[in-house]
Amino acid sequence: MAADLADRYDVVVVGGGNAALCAAHAARESGASVAVLEKTARDEAGGNTYFTAGAFRLAHGGLDDLRPLLDDSDDPRLDVSDIPAYPADAFVADMERVTAGANDDAMTRVMADDSREVVGWMAGKGIRWELLYPRQTYRDGERWVFFGNLALGIVDGGKGLVAQHTEAALAAGIEIHYGVAVTDLLRDGDAVTEVEVVVDGVVRTVRAGAVVLAAGGFESDPEMRRKHLGDGWERAIVRGTPSNTGEVLRAALAHGAAAHGDWSSCHSVQWDAEAPPNGGERELTNSLTRQSYPVGIVVNGAGERFLDEGADFRNYTYAKYGREVLAQPGGRAVQIFDATTRPLLRTLEYDVEGVTEAVADSLPELAEQVGVDPEGLVRTVEEFNASIAEVGFNPAVKDGRSARSGSVVKSHWASPIAAPPFYGYPVACGITFTFGGIRIDPHSAAVLDEAGARIPGLFAAGEIAGGLFSGNYPGGSGLIAGSVFGRRAGRSAATG
Ligand SMILES: Cc1cc2nc3c(=O)[nH]c(=O)nc-3n(C[C@H](O)[C@H](O)[C@H](O)COP(=O)(O)OP(=O)(O)OC[C@H]3O[C@@H](n4cnc5c(N)ncnc54)[C@H](O)[C@@H]3O)c2cc1C
Repeated sequence: MAADLADRYDVVVVGGGNAALCAAHAARESGASVAVLEKTARDEAGGNTYFTAGAFRLAHGGLDDLRPLLDDSDDPRLDVSDIPAYPADAFVADMERVTAGANDDAMTRVMADDSREVVGWMAGKGIRWELLYPRQTYRDGERWVFFGNLALGIVDGGKGLVAQHTEAALAAGIEIHYGVAVTDLLRDGDAVTEVEVVVDGVVRTVRAGAVVLAAGGFESDPEMRRKHLGDGWERAIVRGTPSNTGEVLRAALAHGAAAHGDWSSCHSVQWDAEAPPNGGERELTNSLTRQSYPVGIVVNGAGERFLDEGADFRNYTYAKYGREVLAQPGGRAVQIFDATTRPLLRTLEYDVEGVTEAVADSLPELAEQVGVDPEGLVRTVEEFNASIAEVGFNPAVKDGRSARSGSVVKSHWASPIAAPPFYGYPVACGITFTFGGIRIDPHSAAVLDEAGARIPGLFAAGEIAGGLFSGNYPGGSGLIAGSVFGRRAGRSAATG
């Protein structure tokens, strides 16, 4: 049975996702009494963390460095796997490249430098790791070739991460209170000393030696989306928890926290067009994503391509392509493949329950089924097929096999759309999380005010802390950011 919510704890953590639970572990191991306050009921808990694929980006020294972390370190595939080392400097360079230099340098450096060590620390808490064979590899003969510097993930994905975190937290004596919505912060002078909460419709307060905010971004609030991201964003599909509605973020700003990062952009992806609009589906979770577009083409209702499907490995483009789909008429598009490329699609996303799929023996028939102009699609495909560069196709490397239709180039992995049957997957814009948040000191994760001074007693981590991302994002960075700054926030909160 859950413990009663006491009047005071050394550390109160707001939110119940990965950042919160890392903060709670770190505070607890520093000797603090800790309460995690999560707005949702237990069967809806885990925030966006629950919906993830559980993929973690970390700096590492290659397979030998990752092997000790793995649940199944005797997996025979390990002996025929290629995982290049990923130094911290390469992680930093990826962040700078995909955000066009708009990332906070100090936060990025801390995230990259801490990343390997924090993953080992999580393993010590009971978090279980595996390699992401189904998502992040292509076969090259007998070998498994990992692409895009994203090899490590959680056993059972986001669901597993929340279950493992929760079990470990309870075993460590951390109290997790569900159905407790934080509505405000209370201060004694400058210092935050209390949170106001609503439990079963009753308002009360909980005192705290320090408070860690880990209540996510504002992606689930349509009005905040429209205000900060722009017109049309109120129609984006929410991929994850419906509960990240930004009220804790607003409370922190109202108490003097400085805004930080890019409030006008977000992480958004190509997402099944028929998915529920206002929050993720707890059984299907991330399988509603459609991420094999690099081996196909993506067209709008006119049958025209509008993005470079092969600009880079999927991990470096997917988080900005939801936005491109939202900008198309009706906010929809269709991914097109043929019988040759269909076997290359991720089975976890294209061969599972809940996939909106059309199959036809000719392109005009396919176009009719998915609501695309048949003549436009045929014209696009003819032009595309006729322009494919004469180099070999290899999805595991940037092969330079380019093509174009109209003025839209595909830089790599062009394959003719020629062998029936043809496949169409309608997609819309699924918003993942928002990039704008509050400013933290990268070392202590203390919340800073407009003058750059710490707000005593207040720390933050995860999506609620802005500064890392802008416009785009390297896959697997959200979870590691929450872990790195969550651990720092929890330690700082416990030790002052
Ligand atoms: C479908 C999907 C797939 C993803 N896949 C990956 C992946 O594989 N790898 C990766 O790195 N990232 C992934 N992400 C991004 C990742 O989910 C986030 O970056 C990360 O989980 C953020 O953790 P967090 O703890 O900050 O927020 P969350 O996990 O969202 O937790 C925030 C919590 O705060 C609670 N809360 C909100 N308001 C209040 C309040 N007023 N009072 C109390 N509690 C409150 C919410 O209910 C929620 O539980 C994915 C996201 C989605 C949606």
